[in-house]
Amino acid sequence: MAGIMIVAEYIGDKVRGTSFELVSEGKKIADAIGEEVIAVLFGNGLDPLAASLAQYGADKVLLVESDKLAAYTTGAFSKALTEVVKEVDPNIVLFGNSVMAKDLAPRVAMRLGVGLATDCTNMEMKAGKVYFTRPIYAGKAFAKVSSDATPVMATIRPNSFTCGEPDSSKNAVVEKKNVTIEDVDLRTVIKETLKQASGRVELTEANIIVSGGRGIKGPEGFKVLEELADVVGAAVGASRAAVDSGWCSHQMQVGQTGKVVSPTLYIACGISGAIQHLAGMGSSKCIVAVNKDPEANIFNVADYGIVGDLFEIVPLLKEEFTQILGGSQESA
Ligand code: FAD
Repeated sequence: MAGIMIVAEYIGDKVRGTSFELVSEGKKIADAIGEEVIAVLFGNGLDPLAASLAQYGADKVLLVESDKLAAYTTGAFSKALTEVVKEVDPNIVLFGNSVMAKDLAPRVAMRLGVGLATDCTNMEMKAGKVYFTRPIYAGKAFAKVSSDATPVMATIRPNSFTCGEPDSSKNAVVEKKNVTIEDVDLRTVIKETLKQASGRVELTEANIIVSGGRGIKGPEGFKVLEELADVVGAAVGASRAAVDSGWCSHQMQVGQTGKVVSPTLYIACGISGAIQHLAGMGSSKCIVAVNKDPEANIFNVADYGIVGDLFEIVPLLKEEFTQILGGSQESA
């Protein structure tokens, strides 16, 4: 039994940033304990993706290819990953805390008869044992958890670790693995995948998020936020109040019953800072709040607070950032 396995994900022909973060951080731990980082990818035609994982520190990349793994399905992926983990026998298996991982990781843990630490924000080795930090009670407290059963499995919140710089001189051993997936393993068939219409970076992967709440007053309020987002290269999020009012899609909801995000910069506009919203963005590295109520709870977690009307402040921020950055940035 050896190695730290990263279950890597990709969109189109690009590996997701979260997978690079895990490879990068996994490599630090692997080096400290004299083990290797093994990234595993599922799908078809995966060869071009392997090199990028090597550049972030993967020692080995396993490509598990099959027509039946071309799109994510619970049955096929659970079977394939369980087989690969049994064969490779790693000490630790890490996933990004993605929609896929929330479905896949518990099923694989159950099949392997081990535990799973979910939505972790840190991991560290102490006396040869890995400990994970998990926010609990909607982010009000943190629990440190570990497991005696191996492999130790965990899902890690995106943006929890800084990603090292890619090093193009690094290579990994690339191996193809065969798995047997019968038709009976496929309980669902993906007929069509629709791309997000916004063209913006996915919220959970975003480095900068501009979010709007009830204070934006209506769907047209989001245009003001989008203009700022275009300038700083941000994704646009929302509170549940804005989503429930029908002003934007549920895909944009941040919080306990929405997405959990951890960007470098979170700009909350017209959001009061309810505990359920904080549960989804409280681990952001820098929080800027714009709210006309100086007593709003969001100011208790904000690194920078601007008391004022967002319809005056946000266009001013846009102007300032345009001057500094000089026009629209690519979503980061
Ligand atoms: P409000 O609380 O109404 O706040 C609006 C803010 O806008 C106020 O602070 C006001 O001062 C400010 N404002 C108004 N006009 C302006 C202006 N012109 N300029 C500047 N500021 C202005 N909420 C989530 O967000 N995500 C979740 O996932 C979520 N899950 C939930 C799960 C459960 C089980 C429950 C019970 C609730 C959940 N909620 C969630 C709802 C949550 O409790 C709050 O109701 C919600 O977050 C409030 O959204 P808000 O801050 O946009 O609205």
